[in-house]
Amino acid sequence: MTTLSVIEPATEQVLREVPRAGVEETDAAVAAAKAAFPAWRDVAPGDRATLLRRLADHLEAHHEELSLLEARDAGKPITSARGEIGMVIATFRYYVGAPERLLGDTIPVAGGIAMTFREPLGVVGLITPWNFPLAIASWKMAPALAAGNTIVLKPAELTPLTAMRFAELALEAGIPEGVVNVVVGPGRTCGQRLVEHPDVAKIAFTGSTAVGSSIAAEAAGTIKRVTLELGGKSANIVFADADVRAAALAAPGAVFDNAGQDCCARSRILVQESAVDEFLEHMEGAVQAIRVGDPLDPATTMGPLISAGQRETVSSFVPDGAPVAIRGQAPDGPGFWFPPTVLSPVDPGDRAAVDEIFGPVACVIPFSDEAHAIRLANDTIYGLSGSVWTGDGARGLRVARAMEAGNLSINSNSSVRVTTPFGGFKQSGYGRELGPHATDAYTDVKTVYYRTQED
Ligand code: NDP
Repeated sequence: MTTLSVIEPATEQVLREVPRAGVEETDAAVAAAKAAFPAWRDVAPGDRATLLRRLADHLEAHHEELSLLEARDAGKPITSARGEIGMVIATFRYYVGAPERLLGDTIPVAGGIAMTFREPLGVVGLITPWNFPLAIASWKMAPALAAGNTIVLKPAELTPLTAMRFAELALEAGIPEGVVNVVVGPGRTCGQRLVEHPDVAKIAFTGSTAVGSSIAAEAAGTIKRVTLELGGKSANIVFADADVRAAALAAPGAVFDNAGQDCCARSRILVQESAVDEFLEHMEGAVQAIRVGDPLDPATTMGPLISAGQRETVSSFVPDGAPVAIRGQAPDGPGFWFPPTVLSPVDPGDRAAVDEIFGPVACVIPFSDEAHAIRLANDTIYGLSGSVWTGDGARGLRVARAMEAGNLSINSNSSVRVTTPFGGFKQSGYGRELGPHATDAYTDVKTVYYRTQED
């Protein structure tokens, strides 16, 4: 194996050298997962629940260690990293209850009874991105394992460290060898191999729409199950009848959190024409209050971008002459820094209003009335999340129902909870993660007919 240099985005220094896997190592991980599957599937549901609970406890005992690792590897504020690792633990705790709740139906039929079972798929390949490394992986790992599958996780090469540590912690917690496998290597070799491997039953992917599309096409070759959580260009609709100040103060967090590298980022802020000035006035202070800097400083609220390449991409959305209405601060010197930036007014057809930027750049787009707001909000290939701010409750619900997206909030910008389904409409993907039904995506339904009628 060659080695991979993992770079710390806040310093541009090498954080760690790790072995880099290729096709051979990916095949070995799949073989280990395949060998471990029958025994893991046959662990009694209550015992599988106990093992998952032990794993959650063990992760909790390593909460601070994992948070520090994530903060340095992904360049995210330590307070955010602690929150994300907290969510990893909560996700495993939530699915502790799942093995004993994989319920089926009994269906009366002529001559006997038919019953259904939710059977695990076998070896599941998980391909995850660099923006919320262990959190997004946990949304896939916990329900997959709870349902009795074994897994091969391929984290993004940019941020593999918490996944590697997770594999060690899982073993220490008593998860049997071969059940959890982590392969660190390039998407185009290791990820691709998982997608085409005949012994991998399903791919659960989070990342760009382009790669998601190619995975869906290639998975068809072996009729793999696929779930995709892809990009977004979510709308944050602010009506003039809303508490405009509250909406404006909340808006920066909804797009600049994780330095904007968030598939749910509300990066299109649609503000009713008569409220634009008031909105920007309140937003200015909130943007200037964002502390961009050292991820390990507890006062920091925004870190650097993940890489030099990502910074270059993000910069291209703010060319000379762009309508910069608000620009926050960012450090000089080493680190992939980019200041929180608000563009206003932006034409809905402008590239910054159409493409997923995946950085701290927000577009303010004025609208005239409710129908116009809905039309603008839905005028995108994406459909992941969004918000509606209004003082009229019926309008809030009406507009949320009209928006073509999977995760919406009214007078709030929060979209992700362990206990509720999460996923996209349109080219933001298909399948749902989290919530009570996530195990459906890691099982197939089997129908068994039992003849009771005597001849
Ligand atoms: P990618 O979609 O390229 O990467 C996501 C994961 O897929 C990584 O683990 C990557 O591996 C892997 N991968 C890449 N190519 C293949 C392939 N051909 N077959 C199988 N797996 C593959 O995202 P990027 O990191 O390049 O980010 C680019 C853009 O994607 C961002 O700017 C953003 O717009 C969007 N994005 C959206 C995310 C979301 O949460 N929905 C998350 C991340 C990105 P590796 O990187 O190790 O090579």
